[in-house]
Amino acid sequence: MSARTNSQVVGLDRAHVFHSWSTQGSLAPLAIAGGEGSTVWDYEGRRYLDFSSQLVNTNIGHQHPAVVEAITRQAQELATVAPQHATLARGEAAKRILDVAGGAFSKVFFTNAGADAVENAIRLARLTTGRDKVLSAYRSYHGNTGAAIAATGDWRRLPNEYSRGHVHFFGPYLYRSEFWASSPEEESERALQHLRRVIESEGPGTIAAVLLETVPGGAGVLVPPPGYLRGVRELTEKHGIALILDEVMCGFGRAGEWLAFRGDFGDGRDSVVPDLVTFAKGVNSGYVPAGGVMMTDAIASAFDERVFPGGLTYSGHPLAMGAIVATIDAMKAERIVEHAREVGDEHLRPGLQALQDAHPMIGEVRGRGVFWAIELVRDRGTREPVSPQVMASLKSTLLDRGLLPFTVDNRIHVVPPCIVTPAEVARGLALLDEALTAVGQAAD
Ligand code: PLP
Repeated sequence: MSARTNSQVVGLDRAHVFHSWSTQGSLAPLAIAGGEGSTVWDYEGRRYLDFSSQLVNTNIGHQHPAVVEAITRQAQELATVAPQHATLARGEAAKRILDVAGGAFSKVFFTNAGADAVENAIRLARLTTGRDKVLSAYRSYHGNTGAAIAATGDWRRLPNEYSRGHVHFFGPYLYRSEFWASSPEEESERALQHLRRVIESEGPGTIAAVLLETVPGGAGVLVPPPGYLRGVRELTEKHGIALILDEVMCGFGRAGEWLAFRGDFGDGRDSVVPDLVTFAKGVNSGYVPAGGVMMTDAIASAFDERVFPGGLTYSGHPLAMGAIVATIDAMKAERIVEHAREVGDEHLRPGLQALQDAHPMIGEVRGRGVFWAIELVRDRGTREPVSPQVMASLKSTLLDRGLLPFTVDNRIHVVPPCIVTPAEVARGLALLDEALTAVGQAAD
């Protein structure tokens, strides 16, 4: 390919590409030509520290050589194969995924991405319980296919609501509590009481599944308070409702765990085991699109003598599978999940707290691993969110200084790759500090 300028690339894009979730007429996408580790660059060599991991998916960083090599090797060996055949990479990928999930699940159904993983988890829950309704949280995102978007608990659901049986409830979010709670314990207890009432009011015998992001991501990295996940598990178990944990964003290292639900949310490690787990993104860092559903033996064996009425041409596509095998192997060999946890505990948590101490605009910071949100407010007392203009100006100031941020509503999500180094964290936090100072002064 001949050399191109940023404006040529953006011009070509604007002429022919229709973008996700956007008003097409006002788009000005950033041109990205390449990347390595936690850095990306444009067509004119300008470099950006990637604190977005793109769409929170490049957990292993950009262009990990072992993963690129595995995809190349798989492409040379067998670039595609139908899902009904057995192929080595698919079995190896499923085995590794089940292994890092801790032994509670027996099979994996592979999908093309996260949304169809959620669709199929819902389908499995409906078929095995014989019930219809799905309860999910306001402030959640589950994907953009029919049932996944109806399960979503934010504005993206409203223009797309055409599938049946979806009921929403409020999950815990102490900073903007729906329950007048003043401590994490109170928030947890009251959110559980609210869910209990929703289940009773909907009729437990009509509910197939409770679907939750273990740590709601797009909604603001809402780390569940002590006892909440355990309480949801108890409620669902009591009523024979399947618990689906959506780990599309929080899984595979992001929250400093292989799967976030295996972490300690106040009840000790491995204290909550769902019936179904959805994953995508970090499973192979998005090098080739892939997602899937892990299921317990009870669910998998329900289809031993009955047809599973679902399928995809590219379920378990060999290039995606080769990338999964190489990603998990590299993450193990390089202790990438442990590294993400340490970077979170030792660098991001104290660094972000220091930023909060220095900037009145920061109302709260929360997260774990390499999964953090900075919530920006006009006034710490009223907690009124900063305006979209302030967010736009922060974003452009950060880009000008060489940091690619992930912004949502009134928040900056600090979501670098799991392999981010302490020096890169220090640089990213310094750039955030500078941008918050510049924008804070302009807003005064
Ligand atoms: N579930 C969660 C928790 C997500 O964050 C996302 C995407 O951001 C999805 C599902 C949908 O995944 P995909 O965009 O790969 O379909």
